[in-house]
Amino acid sequence: MADAAPTPMMAQYLALKAEAADCMLFYRMGDFYELFFEDAKLASGILDIALTARGEHGGEKIPMCGVPAHAMDGYLARLIKAGQRVAIADQIETPEEAKKRAGSKALVARAIIRVVTAGTLTEESLLDSRSANWCAAIGEAGGESAIAAADISTGRFEILECAPDAVGAALARLGAAEVIAADGSDAFDVTSYRARSEFDSSGGEMRLKRLFDVATLDGFGQFGRAALSAAGGLVAYLEHTAKGALPFLRPPRVSRSDASMAIDAATRESLELTQSQAGTRKGSLLDSVDRTVTGAGARLLAADIAAPLMDRDAIEARLDLVQRFHDEPGLRDDLRASLRALPDIGRAIGRLAAGRGSPRDLGQLRDGLDGAWRLGETLGKLPDPPALLASLAPDLRGHGALIDLLQRALVPAPPIDASNGGYIAEGYDAALDDLRDAGAGGRRAIAALEADYKQRTGIAALKIKHNGVLGYHIEVASKHADDLMRPDSGFTHRQTLAGVVRFNAPELHEIAIKVTQASAHALAAEAAHLEDLTSAALTRREAIAATADALARLDVASGLAERAAEGGWTRPVLVDHACFEVEGGRHPVVETALARSGERFVANDCVLSETDRLWLVTGPNMGGKSTFLRQNALIAVLAQTGAYVPATRAKLGLVDRLFSRVGASDNLARGRSTFMVEMVETAAILAQATPRSFVILDEVGRGTSTYDGLAIAWAVVEAIHEDNRCRCLFATHYHELTRLAERCDALSLHNVRAREWKGDLVLLHEVAEGPADRSYGLAVARLAGLPPVTISRAKAVLAKLEAGREKTGGIAAGLDDLPLFAAAAEHEEEAVDALRAELSGLDIDSLSPRDALDALYRLKGLMEA
Ligand code: ADP
Ligand code: MG
Repeated sequence: MADAAPTPMMAQYLALKAEAADCMLFYRMGDFYELFFEDAKLASGILDIALTARGEHGGEKIPMCGVPAHAMDGYLARLIKAGQRVAIADQIETPEEAKKRAGSKALVARAIIRVVTAGTLTEESLLDSRSANWCAAIGEAGGESAIAAADISTGRFEILECAPDAVGAALARLGAAEVIAADGSDAFDVTSYRARSEFDSSGGEMRLKRLFDVATLDGFGQFGRAALSAAGGLVAYLEHTAKGALPFLRPPRVSRSDASMAIDAATRESLELTQSQAGTRKGSLLDSVDRTVTGAGARLLAADIAAPLMDRDAIEARLDLVQRFHDEPGLRDDLRASLRALPDIGRAIGRLAAGRGSPRDLGQLRDGLDGAWRLGETLGKLPDPPALLASLAPDLRGHGALIDLLQRALVPAPPIDASNGGYIAEGYDAALDDLRDAGAGGRRAIAALEADYKQRTGIAALKIKHNGVLGYHIEVASKHADDLMRPDSGFTHRQTLAGVVRFNAPELHEIAIKVTQASAHALAAEAAHLEDLTSAALTRREAIAATADALARLDVASGLAERAAEGGWTRPVLVDHACFEVEGGRHPVVETALARSGERFVANDCVLSETDRLWLVTGPNMGGKSTFLRQNALIAVLAQTGAYVPATRAKLGLVDRLFSRVGASDNLARGRSTFMVEMVETAAILAQATPRSFVILDEVGRGTSTYDGLAIAWAVVEAIHEDNRCRCLFATHYHELTRLAERCDALSLHNVRAREWKGDLVLLHEVAEGPADRSYGLAVARLAGLPPVTISRAKAVLAKLEAGREKTGGIAAGLDDLPLFAAAAEHEEEAVDALRAELSGLDIDSLSPRDALDALYRLKGLMEA
């Protein structure tokens, strides 16, 4: 390109764009953020805004689009949702400063002040109040892996150490908005890669020490090298997006992945724990149990369900709290009413810490902390409190001085926008009050002056007005202007417009200066208070975050109690041996869906023990097998979350790993599911399930031909029975598998009951002992509307098959002497019908010789088909 050098502005833009690398660049110009070149084309498409052009670069017009700065959040939200990352370049000096620095033609200096990414948002308008927003980093060292994850909207910081092959499961548990890893890492689900050096474990240790300003990390727990690598990479990335400002993070909580029930990504998806298979919250287990009334409660419940506990004491502690609220409805109602009224203090302190706080955030802290205090008072008086409640109470009541300060300092409803002042309460600062009085006095004096001028001039319509250009001035209609124009009138002409003329006067000028100065000083005084109050809040930010956690825990526990009361659920009993005894179990999501259409869910028992640990469930399609399997897996998840369960009685030994696999052909809705995936996933279960695990296998083996499928299903059941020895529910339509009961002593047969009644199939959805008395496939086929001729043909085939099986024991032995379907009489009839139709459609008189020949060929073809 031999073109003219870019303009200074374009040169500045291009340098910033180079720095922004793979991010879109928002370039501040006046009241707008402008985008250029490819960014502009992409953004105008995503945002549906006009693409224009500006100047030239390299001989071509520069594509451009822009968004108003005051409405930036909404546009950012849409770009982030569309998978973009955005670097914000702001003006870092005023035009006056630029002139002073580099002369009258100087370009205002700009710099990238922040990089906005999906995992680093804090704005209320960009976040879902009911979900956490995790940014996760994967670290590796010495054959171990770790995930460090931060939700900077609340400062939550977790580190999870795990084996390399458990990284996928750990990420699935978090559902992170953004996942980063070191260049060259082969982890999956990564959204961006960063320099390897940022993931160095000793560098990570230093970064953490600096962030928390400590000489040693021992106070936070034990960190492996992988954990330090992950945490270091994460903190470096957060610093990068905040352009060097340290992110607001609470001290990390380190855990091993085996502290919670291991649930891999496929199992989460199949059980729809926190998301339905359609990707929505609706339809998930989380949605069906969530009765929380605060955003923080909803976020904690989602985290709890995603990571059921393995520590029995911790589970019992949660259950004790739920039970208290369950058994005392009055207490529960009062608590929930109080919680519902509280603002989200976790996110308010997050915004303040990120330097994006507002007077309203301080107001939210004041009200939230005050509410927490009151709750602490009430709950503190409860007789015989559960241990968890006793341990939360101090966190609720730790902020007396701060609450008092904020209550004195702030007006009742402080605004989001600080620029007009008006958020510091009267009586908090005498000097500020004086300034405000001076302003108000001045405004009163101006009003008096206006009355005086009216009287003196005899012009009733005379007004004193204010605008940004002239400041305070006197305005009269043109027809009255002459009197005021006279040199001895005491007025000075300022401006003549169509219809009105504007003047100034010495008295007015004097008062106006005082008013203007007083309000500028008042604004400055308020801003100084805002800063002081913010830092007063920030010095207590960890304690505030702990209060937010305590409130969230109360919300989760009382919400679970509410759900339990609503659904008649029961407190599970946890025991040490690997039993699983559920009486009257139900599927919470299916039950609710049925109730909506006025149908009743049939409750079912599931009783597994060490000597009867594998149930083979057979029965007709649509009989309720899949539902039965899932409801039991969900009950295990709920129990270890510390929730009541949808059953009349439940007693279970802790589940260390939970697996759910659905045969490929039964799961076509997933689209990408193939027989291969099914087998890979089944292999994972055989490799990982332990005697403490719980496995549900639904029609595994169905995705291939009958012989293969049956053979695989048979072998998998045997392996689970002999080697894994886990608790397992296996649903199958292969009736042949029931023979396994003779060889496997810890396996028993069960079936979902059905009846044929007056030729119709009635599904009872009832799980009973023993194998299904027969296969109901044909009855289901008729129910589904297959034509009677096909049904009767299938009956004939079935009869032959069954006869063959009796003779030889083989499934298809009877098929040898069964005439092929294609050669059967029915087919010939079809062919004759087609011939007839074709012939009667011919209009012989209108055919050309050529058409007639064609018709003959067609007819012959029909006969041979
Ligand atoms: P299968 O796996 O045996 O084909 P599903 O478990 O998919 O059957 O159940 C099919 C339908 O039957 C469900 O969508 C639900 O409407 C109904 N159903 C299942 N279990 C029950 C039950 N226990 N009580 C009432 N209806 C049920
Ligand atoms: Mg099924």
